[in-house]
Amino acid sequence: LRPLSEADPEIARAIELETQRQRRTLELIASENVASCAVMEAQSSVLTNKYAEGYPGRRYYGGCEFVDIAENLAISRAKELFGADYANVQPHSGAQANTSVYFALLKPGDTILGMDLAHGGHLTHGSPINISGAYFKIAFYGVEQETGLINYENVFGAAMKAKPKLIMAGASAYPRKIDFYKMKEIAEEVGAYLVVDMAHIAGLVAAGLHMSPVPHADVVTTTTHKTLRGPRGGLILSKYGDKYGVKINRAVFPGIQGGPLMHIIAAKAVALKEALEPGFKEYQQRVVSNAKALAAALLERGFDLVSGGTDNHMILVDLRSKNITGKEVQELFDKVGVTVNKNAIPYDPQPPNIASGIRIGTPAVTTRGLQEEDMRQIAEIMDYAIDNRDSRAKVAKAQAQVAALCEKYPLY
Ligand code: PLP
Repeated sequence: LRPLSEADPEIARAIELETQRQRRTLELIASENVASCAVMEAQSSVLTNKYAEGYPGRRYYGGCEFVDIAENLAISRAKELFGADYANVQPHSGAQANTSVYFALLKPGDTILGMDLAHGGHLTHGSPINISGAYFKIAFYGVEQETGLINYENVFGAAMKAKPKLIMAGASAYPRKIDFYKMKEIAEEVGAYLVVDMAHIAGLVAAGLHMSPVPHADVVTTTTHKTLRGPRGGLILSKYGDKYGVKINRAVFPGIQGGPLMHIIAAKAVALKEALEPGFKEYQQRVVSNAKALAAALLERGFDLVSGGTDNHMILVDLRSKNITGKEVQELFDKVGVTVNKNAIPYDPQPPNIASGIRIGTPAVTTRGLQEEDMRQIAEIMDYAIDNRDSRAKVAKAQAQVAALCEKYPLY
């Protein structure tokens, strides 16, 4: 039982370097967050040793009485937090959660109507390079070019045309609120299941800052590591446990997964407990107010934002007016110590590996403690770095400002 630094110094070094990177850079990737020490402690516990195929009280292995405590707590907390009647906490990831739901509700060749990846949807919502697009017929809805917004009449039109068996709502790069009630009306009209993937906004939903999909959707999926601030993982919820519970449980295990990751499930339980505490709502309010402050400051500095701003934790910047691509900005910002990802904007003239935009999110920096005034400074640093990208000295100056901000808000 040697410590990691002795047992595997190379991996210990990689972890140390990553810890330093997280400390000295500003994490603005919208899908990332900073998990608590309690979440990480549960994640690195002896629960990783335990096989527990099946569900609490109905396992295929002996010795599951204590991991059952953890899984039952995760389930009851997930149900309480989101007002659901059913929860499956076993999906190893968001992609696995979505694949399980397709496996539970569809047959190969059925049609899924999802949001176009190029307009902010996710790979698992019907992309041809994902199993969802390879095994099912796919049809897409997107956003309007002029507004950057989902037009629900257009979604209805796409649904009437495609006659899908399942409509997938939810997105990876959509900075505005989604009306799940309207999506349910459309699904009902065409006789489709409505599944909502709330991965990005789960924390906002938990805090009551975004319409909950749970009362409207047949099934809701999410990740646990984005705004929800838990360990990496997936979660499936439904208000209709009697109707879908058995099918979904079977689809997760033995359908697409084997033994559940009990250490991760314990960490999910910890994160869900944190999300039930009053401080979590305040945190989510700050996530949104920081995103709004950053959006306003970017607009003031002449940046174009898809849809003109944000209602949630995320901003999609259209860089075309600054004559720079998403790829170039991502690389430039890496030098400055600001981590973002290049992102296609709707109707992007550039290929996805270049992209005309970047996606920015405030969940991680808000956990770190940054305030609205810091958002204004970040906008200033971004603008300065882009304007002076050819000057090494000025890029270094921007980097020094980021380093000072990181020191002001220490991590772990
Ligand atoms: N769903 C949405 C909307 C996402 O944005 C993501 C990840 O970015 C996923 C699902 C997939 O989650 P995971 O990476 O855990 O498979």
